[in-house]
Parts: sequence; structure tokens; C-alpha cells
Amino acid sequence: MPAALIRRLLGRVPDPIDDDTWRHVQLRVRWIAALDDARAQRLRGLATLFLQRKTITPIEPLRLDAIRRATLAALCSLPLLEFGEEGLHGWSQLIVYPDAFRVNRTHVDAAGVLHEWDDELIGEAWDSGPLILSWADVESDLDDPHAGFCVAVHEMAHKLDSLDGLLDGTPPLPRDWQRAWARDFQQAFDAFVADVDAGRDVLIDPYAAEAPEEFFAVCSEYHFSDPATLRNAFPAVAAHLQRFYGPVP
Ligand SMILES: [Zn+2]
Repeated sequence: MPAALIRRLLGRVPDPIDDDTWRHVQLRVRWIAALDDARAQRLRGLATLFLQRKTITPIEPLRLDAIRRATLAALCSLPLLEFGEEGLHGWSQLIVYPDAFRVNRTHVDAAGVLHEWDDELIGEAWDSGPLILSWADVESDLDDPHAGFCVAVHEMAHKLDSLDGLLDGTPPLPRDWQRAWARDFQQAFDAFVADVDAGRDVLIDPYAAEAPEEFFAVCSEYHFSDPATLRNAFPAVAAHLQRFYGPVP
């Protein structure tokens, strides 16, 4: 019987994050360094599951050592501290580009004309497919943790959002909460779109006006990296995210 199978049958799957690796993760990620002990332990458990269940594939010439892999797993698990490991369901691959990457887009317009163009992305979450990140942008998020950006959290928010089969800015929640969430997010989104369309100054990244699901994902980034601005701009949304993700680290 293979050793890995025996260990699994005995319930002793080796921990892919040793103490030394975890210390490096805590040193590198300020949002993780700031967690209390109980939440830090929970995060380490989630990151361990992440590494056991997801295949992390770096694209040449990027190399990912154990510390970088654990850092990615911990970052992607940060939005799951309250939601739990169900947030990892439905997909199996994390693909990591060295830098921003190009994707080819096509669209057939109302007149039946095919439009084709290239988009440059720093992250993407395919419906039940891979989660894709740019390592350079993950690093710049970590270098400047209060700037309002965290691409890993953004893409994980899309993954949580689509768990109920609909990418619409509302993750699966208990019914009453889901109703209040949908109402408060819609109100904030409508007001935000009106401000952006009118060219007024806005407090958060205008990309959030693209769609309700982008609004949720962008606000999720602010929850971790600039919560004061989020509370200022959209107090009701900030309160929902505080309940959904837990207290700001
Ligand atoms: Zn997005």
C-alpha cells in the first residue's frame, strides 16, 4: 500500500506548512501577522487544506517555493475565516503568472459582428474553473497592504459569490441575511454607478461600478486593506463584510 494512502487511512496527512514556513508567511503578510492567535490557527488550518486540495501551477519563468505557496494559500484562505472550508469547493487549480497576463476576448454584438480584443489582467476567476493570479501584483499588494488592493481576495470573493451558481455579488447566505445583503449592496452599487457616471469624485476604485459582482469583489479588497475608506463610503456594505469575513485584522 502506498505510504500516502496509509497515512490518509490513519488520518495523519502531513502538514504541508511547517512552523518555519508559517513564520515566514506571517512576516510577509501584514493582514495575517495582525490576526489574533485563534484566527491565525484557523487560517493555518484552512491554508493547509488549500495546499492539500488545490494544484498550484506557476507559469515560466516564475518559481514558487514552499514559502510562496503557503503565502498564496494563506492569502486565498483569508476570506474563508468565517465562511469556512466550504469556500474551497468547486474548483481545483490556482495558476500563477509572473506578471499581468493577456487574455483574448470575443464578443458578437447585436448586429452579429464579431469583436475581438486582448485584455490585460492581474487576476481572474473562471466559473468552476481555475483561479488565476499575477505574482507581481500579489507582491505589490503585500508591499503596500493599506492601499485598498488585494487581488487574491478579489478573485476569492468571485469564487464565494459563484458558489450558489450565480455570479451576482451575493454569496450563499442564510435567507434573511441574503435579503438584507442584496438590498444594501444594490443601494450602494446604484448610488456608486450614478456617481461614477456623473464624473463625481468617488472614494473607492471606479472599477467597482462595472457590475454588482465587481462591486462586491472590490469592496472585499477594501475590507482587508483599507476598511476605514470602505466604512466611510458604504457603512452598510462594510457592516455586512465585517460579519462575512470577520473583524478587520
Ligand atoms: Zn473581478
